[in-house]
Amino acid sequence: MAFKDLSFDGVRALIRVDFNVPMTQPAEDGGREVTDNTRIRSAIPTIQHVLDTGGSVVLMSHLGRPKGRDAALSLRHILPTLEDLLGLKVKFASDCVGDEALEITQSLEAGEVAVLENLRFHAEEKAGDEFFAGQLAENGDFYINDAFGTAHRAHASTAVIAKFFPEDKAFGFLMEGEVKAMEKVLGEAQKPVAAVIGGAKVSSKLAVLKNLLDRVDKLVIGGGMAYTFVQAQGGQIGGSLVESDMHGEALALLEAAKQKGIDVYLPTDTLCGDGFSPDAAQETHPTQAIPDGWEGMDIGVESRGVFAAALADCKTILWNGPMGVFEFDKFAEGTNHIANAIVAATEEGAYTLVGGGDSVAAVNKAGLADKVSYVSTGGGAMLEGLEGKILPGIAAITKN
Ligand code: AMP
Repeated sequence: MAFKDLSFDGVRALIRVDFNVPMTQPAEDGGREVTDNTRIRSAIPTIQHVLDTGGSVVLMSHLGRPKGRDAALSLRHILPTLEDLLGLKVKFASDCVGDEALEITQSLEAGEVAVLENLRFHAEEKAGDEFFAGQLAENGDFYINDAFGTAHRAHASTAVIAKFFPEDKAFGFLMEGEVKAMEKVLGEAQKPVAAVIGGAKVSSKLAVLKNLLDRVDKLVIGGGMAYTFVQAQGGQIGGSLVESDMHGEALALLEAAKQKGIDVYLPTDTLCGDGFSPDAAQETHPTQAIPDGWEGMDIGVESRGVFAAALADCKTILWNGPMGVFEFDKFAEGTNHIANAIVAATEEGAYTLVGGGDSVAAVNKAGLADKVSYVSTGGGAMLEGLEGKILPGIAAITKN
């Protein structure tokens, strides 16, 4: 059942959220303030739905990477932000398991919200300890997972806990959106399907590329990883980023794509810099003939046009990884051009997903995030999903 159709009348919903937010350094009194409330803001619709349908809410999350208890990483610091966003006072349990937590969570009235202390103050959380998961489970009647960022981890609160709620479990709005988006590009995708894969390294995207070979009609490869393909084919790539030990894999991938009739697009021209710097001198060279002293930093003008044209008639587009060093404005144009091509395809009715890796930062930087169909919030989780892996946090809800 869709989350919006669930009713929580008299139910205490235990929600795994992702409140792992950036904060200021601790002040003299130990206080910290949230500097980017995006993740807390994104969780509000799920919390609000439970409250609006007559339930109460218990929130649990991790924050940072504590080794044991650590006051600087207490979820107490996020309470003012959460209270502001919800417009109500929130209760806080200074441990996520044990008597104090139970006292608070078991006496919650409809419309009330409680937050449990940082899950990772207990090593059992990351270990996926079943006893600990059972203790956490006592804090609610119904389990909701709305933390896509940790869906690829089999932690106590993200996966193991679900066995204590065999019937009473669901995705929240955020997770539901991510799962649907992945299904739309990897499952019943409308053809032609294109994947645009970029970023620094072939090695980190190899599993994604392999998984996509069975799903796409067009494969566009840009970013630093393109040079490994070009060098493997005998090109001269100057000082560009390369993983020479991946030549075999790169050639095998191109051959497999050919066998499957996939159109593969590699950059034919490259905007080079005379060093890896934001104000490096620029020259465009054929990607197969980059002189020594120059390194590929962005796709060239010709490649931008070819890539954009290839995407224009696609009905489904997945984008993972920038086309160049987009963090440097001088080398961001190729990435922006592709972002705009994906926006144009979206306007023509394509389903477009930006996810996993720095392409999310790139569409945000270009101000285009709301002009594509979906921007994923979970980098690592989305990447593993695109690799075809079953994510423990998803399986825990969908399987009994
Ligand atoms: P990923 O996290 O794998 O998506 O990689 C993103 C990173 O790849 C970004 O920080 C980009 O600056 C970097 N990148 C993209 N193109 C290049 C390039 N041609 N040379 C060096 N780094 C690049």
